Amino acid sequence: MTNSVYDYDLVVVGAGSGGVRAARMAAARGARVAVAEEGRLGGTCVNVGCVPKKLMVYAAQFADAFDDAGGFGWKSSAPAFSWPDLIAAKDDEIARLNGVYRRLLDGSGVEIVEGRASLADRHTIVIGDTHCTTEAVLIATGGRPFVPGVPGAELGIVSDAVFTLPDLPPRIGIIGGGYIAVEFAGIMRGLGAEVSLIYRGPLFLRGFDDDVRATLAGEMVKRGINLCFNMEVERLEELIGDGIRVCGPTGDEIDSDLVLWATGRVPNTADLGLEALGVELDGNGAVVVNEYSETTLPGIYAIGDCTDRMALTPVAIGEAMALVETLNGNPTAMNYDNIPTAVFSRPQVGMVGLTEDKARAAGHEIRIFRSTFRPMLNTLSGRDEHTMMKLVVDRISDRVLGVHMVGPDAGEIMQGFAVALKCGATKAQFDATVGIHPTAAEEFVTMREPVEE
Ligand code: FAD
Ligand code: NDP
Repeated sequence: MTNSVYDYDLVVVGAGSGGVRAARMAAARGARVAVAEEGRLGGTCVNVGCVPKKLMVYAAQFADAFDDAGGFGWKSSAPAFSWPDLIAAKDDEIARLNGVYRRLLDGSGVEIVEGRASLADRHTIVIGDTHCTTEAVLIATGGRPFVPGVPGAELGIVSDAVFTLPDLPPRIGIIGGGYIAVEFAGIMRGLGAEVSLIYRGPLFLRGFDDDVRATLAGEMVKRGINLCFNMEVERLEELIGDGIRVCGPTGDEIDSDLVLWATGRVPNTADLGLEALGVELDGNGAVVVNEYSETTLPGIYAIGDCTDRMALTPVAIGEAMALVETLNGNPTAMNYDNIPTAVFSRPQVGMVGLTEDKARAAGHEIRIFRSTFRPMLNTLSGRDEHTMMKLVVDRISDRVLGVHMVGPDAGEIMQGFAVALKCGATKAQFDATVGIHPTAAEEFVTMREPVEE
């Protein structure tokens, strides 16, 4: 990868999940690398994504722990929650992580250049007032929230702003039905807000297994979340002295103190100079790449959310590692099969592999195993919440095609099952696996009778 004609062998635009990993790995292999970042090191995940979100999920889970403790003999007075204290503690942790990222990059010999970068030509990057030349360029600029252009849209905020709200509003309306909407509904409800989730379709989390979607919807209603499905948003109106009204086309109205747009994200590819150089973008602005993350202009690569393949941190990191292999002369494509995912809702969702619908659509003859039960914690606590687990199995090969769960720790539990699916595990091998008792996860290896043949 080393070429002395240019200032660098590789300039990475964006120090987020993918960019940092690619820069460090390339430098570790001996390349001269610079990374340009216009914001804070670590990108979306560290600053306004996975990390602060998960800290808030933990904060919300304490509400359950306080509620449940009484059933186990604990006597305590009603606890009080301080939003400013949570935000301050979260900010300290993020600042610590920003420092960790800086040290990791410095320690790898990567030069950090602060500022907004764009491409002047195929080998020249402009960063603020300076410019540098490079053999190869990696675009790793991530994405940003998308807000539909309805009247009054500016009255709502996007997820980036949630992390710095001065206080927790008493009533929150969340528009959208994807990961962010569902996760923040659980967080805000747990921390004490009244929450309405407004989604245009009949059931949220499109693309997840239908049993997962229906189970989670039922449990969220039990937690007091107002699920408003089949509601398009026509406009937002300011209510004098009394918050914001979300208005639907058929007269539906939801009033709240804060409205959060959680209607998806779009790639950060504007004003980078890409199109002028002949780098193709798709209709959504995503950089078009081949299986080796190379754009339509040789020597310019793109990974992570700006390519709109699968917007998850471990995927951006996987693409980074595959790319560095490729740049080192060993063409390596990221494998997108059986990527596990979790929604940090309350209760959590975890899944890996195919949903029942996708398995059928792919032509599999399938057997379905499903179990719904009350987790042991909820016996003494009296909490009316059930866990749902489901296996989608290919009848002919006996391969387990999909594992799905709604319940506590679903994300943690799913990681191990993802390894099993990567290894091509069969239902017979699940059955031959001894459970760990008493856990919820053991149910995945003790389901014997299919509910559908
Ligand atoms: P990013 O991490 O977004 O990094 C891009 C960087 O490029 C940014 O720092 C940006 O400032 C910089 N940049 C952009 N343009 C320029 C420019 N012209 N010049 C210089 N710098 C530039 N994923 C999970 O796997 N698990 C989760 O639990 C999870 N939770 C999430 C919660 C929220 C609220 C959000 C919004 C996302 C979440 N994600 C989660 C998704 C995850 O954060 C992203 O998939 C991941 O961060 C993508 O990494 P990336 O490297 O592609 O981009
Ligand atoms: P998602 O793509 O997950 O969901 C977007 C939601 O907004 C969908 O319900 C969609 O509806 C709805 N929507 C889109 N456009 C409109 C519109 N014009 N009017 C009304 N509703 C609309 O996006 P998120 O913003 O929730 O998250 C972005 C991505 O970040 C996720 O897809 C995921 O990849 C990543 N992420 C991962 C997390 C994790 O791993 N735990 C957590 C948070 C984010 P419809 O389904 O009908 O199209």
